[in-house]
Amino acid sequence: MAVLQTETPSWKTDDLVLFEEEIAKFFTRELAPHVEDWRDKGCVDRWAWNKAGEAGLLCMSMPEEYGGAGGHFGHEQVFIEQQCMAGVEGFGAALHNCIVAPYILHYGTEEQKKRWLPRMASGELVGAIAMSEPGTGSDLQAVRTTALKDGNQYVLNGQKTFITNGQTANLIIVVCKTDPKEGAKGVSLMIVETDEVEGFERGRNLKKLGNKAQDTSELFFTDVKIPTENLLGTEEGQGFFQLMEQLPQERHQIAVQGMAGIERAIQLTIDYTKEREAFGRPVMSFQNTQFKLAECKAKATMARVFVDYCTGQLIEGKLDAVTASMSKMLISDLENEIIDECLQLFGGYGYMDEYPISRMYADARVQRIYGGTNEIMKLLIARSL
Ligand SMILES: Cc1cc2nc3c(=O)[nH]c(=O)nc-3n(C[C@H](O)[C@H](O)[C@H](O)COP(=O)(O)OP(=O)(O)OC[C@H]3O[C@@H](n4cnc5c(N)ncnc54)[C@H](O)[C@@H]3O)c2cc1C
Repeated sequence: MAVLQTETPSWKTDDLVLFEEEIAKFFTRELAPHVEDWRDKGCVDRWAWNKAGEAGLLCMSMPEEYGGAGGHFGHEQVFIEQQCMAGVEGFGAALHNCIVAPYILHYGTEEQKKRWLPRMASGELVGAIAMSEPGTGSDLQAVRTTALKDGNQYVLNGQKTFITNGQTANLIIVVCKTDPKEGAKGVSLMIVETDEVEGFERGRNLKKLGNKAQDTSELFFTDVKIPTENLLGTEEGQGFFQLMEQLPQERHQIAVQGMAGIERAIQLTIDYTKEREAFGRPVMSFQNTQFKLAECKAKATMARVFVDYCTGQLIEGKLDAVTASMSKMLISDLENEIIDECLQLFGGYGYMDEYPISRMYADARVQRIYGGTNEIMKLLIARSL
């Protein structure tokens, strides 16, 4: 991107650069005009998912045989970056594409992949993952939702909260205990197709500090009967290990979102401070503005090199959990720092909701919390010392 002076990473092929332009057009033309409406409703319209599916932009990193585009994480990264640059808040496709679909691809049986992935790629199914509960977030081994076997079905009971896409999703990966006496070894991942079950209820669409167009919900499961074929994989008790294995990608995609926010914030601030005058001269002409933006650009350039390095590692299957934790922690912290500095340079306008920098400030805060808090990232990194 123009604001930084880094080389195009080797994974970003010419084809992908061309594709980036198409994705940018899709977000700018098709979705961006509806963001205000979605912010008012607290939820992105369902048609947006179908539209993205029709445009071939869902599950791009899934193999073609399962309805995807046969791409890799680089395709998802470009998608996330262009969504951010177009200011399309709230559309939870990164979670659908980079978190939910990969669980099915990596752990699903052939039958499960064929059953769910093509419908996720078309937008017929919208994905969510329900780990957090009112009583536990960071400590996933302590989940209390249970799925107990009864003949050829499981009976699911429990409550989840803070679930992204929770009002829209009709395919939810539920983290639950198939053996409540066990800790990690008792955890399994159950796929719930919400259109096909009874006893599932969506609770409140939670009011939040930021991400106003994103639905974040409570979910309730009361004696929900799930066929045994909906256990992800073939064996009970694998859920915790499946979660751990997928963490590098989940954490790194949060860093990618953060990086896009950093670059957009700097670009918006350069444009604004060149335009805005104080004391008869552009705000950019003050040395403080130049120094602040110089610092932001230098830090962002360093961060971009690290993010693209991690993406390259991820595509090659080499991104380890510790490095991914560093990526999530460092980039989300930096995102908050840089957006704060940028907002200051907008003066009072930076505090006004109609200015994107104000929304970005509020939206960025959660990046240090979800996907494992930054304190949990430090624990994981510390274990490697
Ligand atoms: C907008 C939003 C969207 C979300 N989307 C989803 C989703 O789609 N699916 C989902 O399952 N969850 C989701 N979450 C939940 C999110 O992942 C959790 O909020 C997060 O993991 C923290 O859990 P908690 O809120 O229970 O905090 P707690 O675990 O109660 O932590 C409270 C504080 O204690 C600290 N802490 C906890 N343990 C330790 C420790 N061992 N050492 C040091 N400090 C510690 C934490 O860092 C934090 O500062 C979302 C949350 C938000 C806000």
